[in-house]
Amino acid sequence: MRRIIVGLAAAWLAVAASPLAQPRTRVVMLGTGTPNADPDRYGPSVAVVVDEASYLVDFGVGVVRRAAAAERSGIKALAATRLTTAFATHLHSDHTLGLADLILTPWILERPTPLRLYGPRGLRAMTNHLIAAYDDDLRIRTRGGEPTHGHDPRRVDVHEIAPGIVFRDDRVTVTAFAVKHGAWEQAFGYRFQTPDRTIVISGDTGPASGLADQCRRCDVLVHEVYSGAGFAKRPAEWQAYHSRYHTSARELGAIAARAQPELLVLYHQLIWSSTEDELLKEVRSVYPGKVVSAHDLDVY
Ligand SMILES: [Zn+2]
Ligand SMILES: [Zn+2]
Repeated sequence: MRRIIVGLAAAWLAVAASPLAQPRTRVVMLGTGTPNADPDRYGPSVAVVVDEASYLVDFGVGVVRRAAAAERSGIKALAATRLTTAFATHLHSDHTLGLADLILTPWILERPTPLRLYGPRGLRAMTNHLIAAYDDDLRIRTRGGEPTHGHDPRRVDVHEIAPGIVFRDDRVTVTAFAVKHGAWEQAFGYRFQTPDRTIVISGDTGPASGLADQCRRCDVLVHEVYSGAGFAKRPAEWQAYHSRYHTSARELGAIAARAQPELLVLYHQLIWSSTEDELLKEVRSVYPGKVVSAHDLDVY
């Protein structure tokens, strides 16, 4: 009898230690910030990690350093040389300040392939302008004595997309959908279907973007949010702006109540004079499901 129990315990340990015990898909919050210069929150960037591959949504300031921190904590897919594929929600600076970093730093560290980028109209021009801005750097690095790199850093595979399936490989299908973000002509959210999970990321959006229909009981809904209590103390002209461009905690609670995600993750939190606890309370006042307020480097 004792031998059977020991055998079962060994089998259980083997299962627990095997990679199969972990989900294949993880969501890593590289940056949860906004345009505000909060030292604890880097620019918005979310990594969907499937096995040894990573897919970034947005590349705010500090993206490659935050990915390196996640790698150091054990997520190998976020090594700089594996940052090969990224999706932009829109071209606001807080979401794109890390683009030069994402093009250049992994290349210097010998990323074997050119970066692949997907996003709205204007992404190609932004990429070309950044490459032009670093012309002297690229000339010195490629012809000034650094050991030869695998490819020309001026080559970035940019895809300006329309809503629909925009990417597919053997791990993931990525669907872009249009969201309403104030005066932006094009802004996207993304839905990732992987072998074991469905992840939906809102990007920046007002409340009327159909996120509930995109999620439909998805595993993780990552959504931007602002605090109603903080908003109430903002000047009228800023209130007019925020309510057009972003989603309040109560509005998000109502969206989540229809979407019914397994887990709702708040990011890009505009809290102002309020607190994170108050923000969560506002969401929970209309949404009984599981909700967390993300910090940089949280993993779900
Ligand atoms: Zn933003
Ligand atoms: Zn924005």
